[in-house]
Amino acid sequence: MSETRGQSGRKKKSRTRLAHAGRRPSEQFGFVNTPIYRGSTVLFPDTASLLANRGAYTYATKGTPTTRALEEAWIDVAGAAEAVAVPSGLAAITLALLTALKAGDHLLVTDSCYLPARMFCDSVLKRLGVETTYYDPRIGADIAALMRPNTTAILTESPGSQTLEVQDIPAIAEVAHARGACVVLDNTWATPLFFPPHERGVDLAIEAGTKYLAGHSDLLLGLVSANEKWAKRLRATYNAFAICPGPEDCFLALRGLRTMELRLREAERAGLEMARWLAAREEVAEVIHPALENHADHALWKRDFLGSTGLFSFVLKPVPPEAVAAMLDGLELFGLGYSWGGFESLALPFDCASYRTATEWAPGGPAIRLSIGLEDLDDLKEDLDAGFARLRASKA
Ligand SMILES: *Cc1c(COP(=O)(O)O)cnc(C)c1O
Repeated sequence: MSETRGQSGRKKKSRTRLAHAGRRPSEQFGFVNTPIYRGSTVLFPDTASLLANRGAYTYATKGTPTTRALEEAWIDVAGAAEAVAVPSGLAAITLALLTALKAGDHLLVTDSCYLPARMFCDSVLKRLGVETTYYDPRIGADIAALMRPNTTAILTESPGSQTLEVQDIPAIAEVAHARGACVVLDNTWATPLFFPPHERGVDLAIEAGTKYLAGHSDLLLGLVSANEKWAKRLRATYNAFAICPGPEDCFLALRGLRTMELRLREAERAGLEMARWLAAREEVAEVIHPALENHADHALWKRDFLGSTGLFSFVLKPVPPEAVAAMLDGLELFGLGYSWGGFESLALPFDCASYRTATEWAPGGPAIRLSIGLEDLDDLKEDLDAGFARLRASKA
């Protein structure tokens, strides 16, 4: 693998590292990319090596050159001590939690978390004897009041992927670490490029690689990275479960990694321009985007983040559900669907009111999340403009 630091000792810039991380051409007959290693068995040269389990690779559940290339690259990008690749973002969340928790523990989880993570806590973790308390994502250092003697982990997500509350991760980490608890962050929105998790005090960082790392809606993948303190425990838990992704998936993730910063910078530009355009529409009550000056957590976002991405939400002024459906159903460019971070734009109506327990979600109108893709912005605006016309016609 190429080095993070150049000959001068200066840390190379992220774009350079994305282009070079996790590649060892000299070990691949000079080919630029690490190829797809398909395999289970690894042959040992002799009995002594086999009995000692000696060698860079011993069995494919523990890694292949393809999976290891992705993990090495992610260690570099995330500024981590260790990283493991798993077959989905949700698997990354469950692996991180099972790395940190044991029976009898208490877990704090942000009320804004990815819904399937909440379902995992309320079902499997509950069955395993872990109690979960949900907290207000804007709690900051006041999370101290929720800590119990057996609180061993806090699952944060910043910003929440639908409602976009930004959390004070350094403050939460300070409280957690004073009591020996593990800080887990779902960092999918920002990626390590816009929020370097371990520098900000996170112990275990999750990335749904399905989103901006893959970038093409053709891949499910997750990553968990760890700081020095949690590196061994993460690797050991991963090995115990053997939830290893396929080599083709790791290869596609590495391909996505090479252009991730370019796509993120474009998502940032297009997302912001679209957010400002929506904020000026009379049909719109509020645009929820942390990089907009009027967002409740804008100052925190500015302090801790290095950029924003193309995923944000907006709230319509009150209209009946049929008007929202009329607007969304006729969209030509925006697809209706889950996930995000692909080259194609998506729209998703959402309502968290029914499952939030620590905070109330009452935005005052129907909420829609957008993932801005790589299409021309004028074309996307025209698509939404026609949608607003349908909304007005349906209301009348
Ligand atoms: C999509 C998503 C996940 C899960 O990723 P999958 O690969 O779809 O399992 C986790 N966290 C957030 C914030 C997500 O948006």
